[in-house]
Amino acid sequence: MRLESNEHRLRFAPSPTGRLHVGSARTALYNWLLARHHAGVLVLRIEDTDAERSTRDLEERLMADLHWMGLEWDEGPDVGGPHAPYRQSERAAVYAARARQLLEAGRAFRCFCSDELLATKREAQRAAGEEPHYDGTCRRLDAGEAGRRAQSGETHTIRFHVPGGVVRFDDLVRGPMEIDSATLGDFVLLRSNGVPTYNFACVADDAEMQISHVVRGDDHLYNTARQVMLYAALGIPAPQFAHLALILDEDRSKLSKREGREGTYAYEYRDAGFLPGALVNFLALLGWSSPSGDDILDLERLVQEFDLDRVSKSPAIFDARKLRWMAGEHLRAQPLEALAERARPFLRAAGLPDDPERAAAWTAAFKDGIACLGELPPRVRELLHPGPLDAEAAAVLGQEEARRLLDTLADRLERVPGDTQPMDGAQFKRLLQECGRELGVRGKSLFMPARVALTGRLHGPELALLFDAMGRETATKRIRDAAR
Ligand code: GLU
Repeated sequence: MRLESNEHRLRFAPSPTGRLHVGSARTALYNWLLARHHAGVLVLRIEDTDAERSTRDLEERLMADLHWMGLEWDEGPDVGGPHAPYRQSERAAVYAARARQLLEAGRAFRCFCSDELLATKREAQRAAGEEPHYDGTCRRLDAGEAGRRAQSGETHTIRFHVPGGVVRFDDLVRGPMEIDSATLGDFVLLRSNGVPTYNFACVADDAEMQISHVVRGDDHLYNTARQVMLYAALGIPAPQFAHLALILDEDRSKLSKREGREGTYAYEYRDAGFLPGALVNFLALLGWSSPSGDDILDLERLVQEFDLDRVSKSPAIFDARKLRWMAGEHLRAQPLEALAERARPFLRAAGLPDDPERAAAWTAAFKDGIACLGELPPRVRELLHPGPLDAEAAAVLGQEEARRLLDTLADRLERVPGDTQPMDGAQFKRLLQECGRELGVRGKSLFMPARVALTGRLHGPELALLFDAMGRETATKRIRDAAR
């Protein structure tokens, strides 16, 4: 199968050795967006050659995290596809064939140096003030002789014969790149147990899976130089490369090195009740901007607008405050019903009553002050069980005029029979205003006592929403209590 020149085949190639890091989530997102923008294909390839650290459990979690973000793939270990299998651990034959091709062409050689010998040499190089590198010992062995030693079962690796000179490629983000191959050394392709190294497996797979664009972090730049040499040696045209600038933490340290700190992994945002669209929007803007200059973008607009020409060369800063702001905007853009439905599992998990109407009233009351749904239950709990009044709140209720107002209001509330005439927040506010008119109380002196009576606080959601959130019975009782 030959690639159509305009066909976009992208891939995301995680190693299932940990949960999905937000930095990798951005890489996955950019690949997904490019595939969708260009009506191409996204491949999910699982790079599980590190048998000790890779697990199926982590693979499943990676997939679940990607699904949560809304990034589905067209080919992959779970959905199959024309280039299956999509797990590197199941592709040994592909790597063996490519290694044979390179050996036969004299572009690779067998290396019989033991790990101990290599370690000793590295030590000596370091002691002499040199960068540790493979010294080329086995490159000079006679190929026939090396073949016989391998035949007789002698342990060996297969190394690439780095041709020397400068490696050049045009990076779609960074422009023309030149890397001196002298810094790279004859690197290993297949380990002595037959397991391929990352660079080799990556090239063999990207080639066979017909990947047109490789989009990944720029920590892979030197790997790309190795890979470009491999493509040339294999006689396969290389894909186009696009290297994404690093993401930095707010203290300018590398985000990729951030561990054990809150907010490092995608699942944490799901568990905290962030909307996936908010995380996706935020990650999209870590190194790309919309031509419109807008910050709040839904998936559809991202797909429409995203392309590599607006991807930045300079590092992006992971601004957690901006993420919170965006997350709040995404929450509030949701229809209330849908948001309340999403809130219910969080209310349930917090041991709060699970009821669609109350969930809707609580969500309506508190959605303006939260970034994620996990922040809702503590506010509801405080609404249901207010703490003791602070001095300022107590001072509001200490005023004669305030108590008279609340007393009148409580009378009115108690007079309207609840079962025959349901009352909502808007009616409650009208009733309060009526009481105010009768007693000649206006503005802050009218609303503040009611707010403090209902919540024990000077600030919070709109009064009508609060009334709906606690219900008429509780509201009436609180106003009566405050009037005493
Ligand atoms: N498994 C590699 C990683 O997670 C993939 C890098 C690449 O995209 O080539 O870093």
